[in-house]
Amino acid sequence: MDLLNTLVDKGLRREVPTRDEALAVLATADDELLDVVAAAGKVRRTWFGRRVKLNYLVNLKSGLCPEDCSYCSQRLGSKAEILKYTWLKPDDASKAAAAGVAGGAKRVCLVASGRGPTDKDVDRVSETIATIKEQNEGVEVCACLGLLNDGQAERLRAAGADAYNHNLNTSEATYGDICTTHDFSDRVETVQQAQAAGMSACSGLIAGMGESDADLVDVVFALRELDPDSVPVNFLIPFEGTPLAKEWNLTPQRCLRILAMVRFVCPDVEVRLAGGREVHLRSLQPLALHLVNSIFLGDYLTSEGQAGKDDLAMIADAGFEVEGADTTTLPAHRRPTEDGADAVDAEPQAAPEAAVPAPAEEARRDLVAVRRRGAGTDLPPNA
Ligand code: SF4
Repeated sequence: MDLLNTLVDKGLRREVPTRDEALAVLATADDELLDVVAAAGKVRRTWFGRRVKLNYLVNLKSGLCPEDCSYCSQRLGSKAEILKYTWLKPDDASKAAAAGVAGGAKRVCLVASGRGPTDKDVDRVSETIATIKEQNEGVEVCACLGLLNDGQAERLRAAGADAYNHNLNTSEATYGDICTTHDFSDRVETVQQAQAAGMSACSGLIAGMGESDADLVDVVFALRELDPDSVPVNFLIPFEGTPLAKEWNLTPQRCLRILAMVRFVCPDVEVRLAGGREVHLRSLQPLALHLVNSIFLGDYLTSEGQAGKDDLAMIADAGFEVEGADTTTLPAHRRPTEDGADAVDAEPQAAPEAAVPAPAEEARRDLVAVRRRGAGTDLPPNA
């Protein structure tokens, strides 16, 4: 297939595909799916071998957010029966982080619900970062606290945060449909503040919110332009009690096409399979490992993932290996001390008619399980 040969060549040269090429990946037929996975897998293996980086989520503060992101179970007015609690104490957060590290995670992602941190919250999180780093040698810490005010990124960096996550989530054109309390440019600005402060930027998307193929391509191209080091790809978990509870638009095949498209557009970036993989990829999860080089271990912020030991078994069974703490995730040309992030520009081309995703016939609503263990509970975490 000419398209796939072209995309592999471009991926190996770190050259940006055209919009039409990215759209064409999303429009491939099921009969071509394994060819698409094999092609994107070649790009993945070129930059990341067969390594899978494990990341571990610790929800520092859960629920009761004043923002109205419609995909989120923690949003203003959410009726989802999730765990709700205020800031975890540094020692409790560190215990949760240690469970993830013991399970093989090299990065811990500290997340808090809310529009953004107050300066007092930054103090609190700084203390938590120090405690985690003291008790878990060599662990990478990523903070995800929402929109940042001036100076907060620098303070988090000084406290030891290696990375900052803030997702773009969807295209600029449709951002207003999923959230009215902040906008796309607020999110871009926060990612740029994190980069300017010397943190590794992590920014990704959520697929399955009713967006078109063109929207998906738009957000992935916006991410390429922003040039984060890691791109988490979430598949919407349609929580009962949220406005998107009825959005069951994804099939395992579509999820694989989306991941392949992200890999072709962001070839040498840590592409992370994030929330919703169990619910939407189901038994095809191992195929996704040919496309992504990073996953979350265990549970998500407010929902349960498969058992951590099943994640590890899946990686081994599929012939991949967990990335060790002594291995640097990114290829040499993307490491901060070396020069070389030389993305090649391509002329944007006119998009073909946007494809409307086919509704999933076999939606597995029964796979959405609210998290009732780990951080904020008396039960041991899943790692
Ligand atoms: S700001 Fe974060 S926690 Fe709040 S509703 Fe949006 S995604 Fe959820």
